[in-house]
Amino acid sequence: MRPPKEPTFRESVDMMFNRAVALMDLSPGLEEKIRVCNSTYTVRFGVRLRGQIFTFTGYRSNHSEHMEPVKGGIRYALTVDQDEVEALSALMTFKCALVEAPFGGSKGGLCIDPTQWEVHELEQITRRFAYELIKRDLINPSQNVPAPDMGTGEREMAWIADQYARMNTTDINAKACVTGKPLNAGGIAGRVEATGRGVQYALREFFRHPEDIKAAGLKGTLEGKKVIVQGLGNVGYHAAKFLGEEDGCKIIGIIERDGALFDESGIDVEAVRQWIIKHGGVSGYPDAAHHAEGAAVLEESCDILIPAAMEGVINMGNADRIKAPLIIEAANGPVTAGADDILRKKGTVIIPDMYANAGGVTVSYFEWVKNLSKIRFGRMQRRQEEARHELIVKELERLDHYLGDSWSMTPDFKEKYLRGAGELELVRSGLDDTMRIAYQAMREVWHSRDDVDDLRTAAYLVAISKVAMSYQAKGL
Ligand code: GLU
Repeated sequence: MRPPKEPTFRESVDMMFNRAVALMDLSPGLEEKIRVCNSTYTVRFGVRLRGQIFTFTGYRSNHSEHMEPVKGGIRYALTVDQDEVEALSALMTFKCALVEAPFGGSKGGLCIDPTQWEVHELEQITRRFAYELIKRDLINPSQNVPAPDMGTGEREMAWIADQYARMNTTDINAKACVTGKPLNAGGIAGRVEATGRGVQYALREFFRHPEDIKAAGLKGTLEGKKVIVQGLGNVGYHAAKFLGEEDGCKIIGIIERDGALFDESGIDVEAVRQWIIKHGGVSGYPDAAHHAEGAAVLEESCDILIPAAMEGVINMGNADRIKAPLIIEAANGPVTAGADDILRKKGTVIIPDMYANAGGVTVSYFEWVKNLSKIRFGRMQRRQEEARHELIVKELERLDHYLGDSWSMTPDFKEKYLRGAGELELVRSGLDDTMRIAYQAMREVWHSRDDVDDLRTAAYLVAISKVAMSYQAKGL
């Protein structure tokens, strides 16, 4: 429930946008042009299921077409409405600009509880929704490219891609009409984990800057940091798993719909994930204390809080009780504009959504390029590397002859060099570079301007100026 004075999600995004543009010198009218959503299409369609007709309401909102195609996920949830898709679509514009994915911003949604339908019913509903969007070029490889979001995944993307291919049999780029597809249907290695992986890379980059660590009142490295994650869906699960397994973080709290788990000594993320898949929630999980009131765990002491589910979970009603000194917004819009004010005044450092969860759209970009180029990443590169390494190996063999035992070219070493990088390695390294470069662009603004005291405003400044430059270059 939204407290009385809490703005809507859309209003919240606008308020954050306004705070940033007030510090910019945009030409008159351009500010308004960038703020508004260009169009929002609403469709109501019927599907005959279980012997009767059910009517569904869906949306696709295009926030900005300064670059095309426009890009953004399709959400399946009962919360979906025009306000929500417009807010999410605006965030997509700024997210893509910030990480230099060459897209405008869009978002779609279907007002549905996917858990209430059988798989074959969901397929019928998805294909029908896709049909409506394809007919209006709201799904199209050169104009509008959806992807997964809350409540959708590879399966839905495969249905959408197939629906598009059936309706556009001569489009050689048909596969690029949607990203987040399964690998065997034109997807790319590492897309499922991408958003969570991006959260991990974002935190690694944050912890490379002593000044930033200090700004959050923290010390040291990621090793041993206490983390609370809200939402163990695709994004929260991967982020928590990687941080725990690869960076030595301790996951002390996991908040889900049916309550929260809390254990100061650390929780086994993989075990909880498996428990949720089997039992539909965290209740009954034997190895951590269960709190029926999940939201209360958001307010527990920890080093890093990762809201990874819905918008508005940190709001004017609970912001002053949030103790985490560092919040990374794995979800879109988890901190409302009102809460953002409260937290900023308290000195909480927030790594903002448009940057923190940009790993998804970054790898979507790689997938789109892969589909257009019709070649798996690494396929040609591997040949080049082999040729290069054959020369190196020859040279090494020559050295071997002279150096003998004092140096060793083990078969392992040779094999590693000859194999070159596979698609997953290339995707991960491309994502890592993207997250590092975008963070550095944000922090440069954060630290160099006296009128900017938070990363969110810095992120908006970087993103809005890129969108503005694009409008200035090509006209409206
Ligand atoms: N739904 C994701 C997001 O909010 C991914 C969008 C995409 O890959 O296009 O960023």
